[in-house]
Amino acid sequence: MSDDRDIAQTISVGVDLGGTNIRAAVFDGGMEILGRSEMPTRAQEAADDVIRRIASCVREALDRSSVAAGEIAGVGIGAAGLTDWKTGVVVLASNLGWRNVPLRERLEQELDGLHVEVDKDTNAAALAEARLGAGREFRHFLYVTAGTGIGGGLILDGTLYRGATGGAGDIGHVVVDPDGPLCGCGGHGCVEVFSSGVGMVNRAREMLADKAQAASSTMTVEGLTTETIFESVKVGDAVAAQVVETAGRALGLALADYVNLNNPEAIVLGGGVVRAGRAYTDPVERELRRRALPALGEVVRLVPPGLGHDVGMAGAALLLAEAKANKNGVST
Ligand SMILES: [Zn+2]
Repeated sequence: MSDDRDIAQTISVGVDLGGTNIRAAVFDGGMEILGRSEMPTRAQEAADDVIRRIASCVREALDRSSVAAGEIAGVGIGAAGLTDWKTGVVVLASNLGWRNVPLRERLEQELDGLHVEVDKDTNAAALAEARLGAGREFRHFLYVTAGTGIGGGLILDGTLYRGATGGAGDIGHVVVDPDGPLCGCGGHGCVEVFSSGVGMVNRAREMLADKAQAASSTMTVEGLTTETIFESVKVGDAVAAQVVETAGRALGLALADYVNLNNPEAIVLGGGVVRAGRAYTDPVERELRRRALPALGEVVRLVPPGLGHDVGMAGAALLLAEAKANKNGVST
């Protein structure tokens, strides 16, 4: 993850706050990890308890790195949910069960006044890809992660673009079928209900509720996962193939709309579902090329992410350098 430039310039801590785990790492100025810590989120507990655990996780990562709190520029957090980076408030995070939690303010108290920056986890990941990963060669790209859900982040003209209240890049809720299934957001036919892991399992369940379909498939409703769907595609299961084909096409359609609106150089497409392989990504790419305006669809590149599991923590740590550069009016 190193670069010859001193990207972050100072030591900083990056925290990836997910619904299952809190992960923290201390990064040096070249974005090498000096030490790390991980704890269960226990999101069912009160937000204040989770925030105290984040603080413990940060302190443990610092201890393991032999770095004192006074030596760091601050702590960046990527939170799994809609987050207003200006106020540091997590507006809505269904994985955490949070609504309007003042994460930055509370964590600064817990960490004795250390500087804290907060953003949506996918924005942090997009920033990390832009500075350290697959996005380094592009000034305009959309970062998309398709796993349990679908999220994204926008890099426009080399800078993370968040929109008015931090929600820019949430491609998971672009509508691809207005009469489609109900989405967790309350809308119908969002790309997430077709193309996410949870969405594919739900669509497969619906198909298997039909007796004729169920008889033609080796899959059963009980214990159905995205893994079983992808395994079934490999052995020629028609129901599984249709679910994955529909998933890929729906995402390709949403991406084509984005390409027509913003003319990006690339789409960095990653996440657990994408790693399942070409049964998913081939229809994404086919639909993207077919639906986008030819002049724009021909130039856009579909590329895998350059960073692995630590992308969220790296991006969170980079939020500090990004905030400083923006404050100084430096275009990055
Ligand atoms: Zn939705």
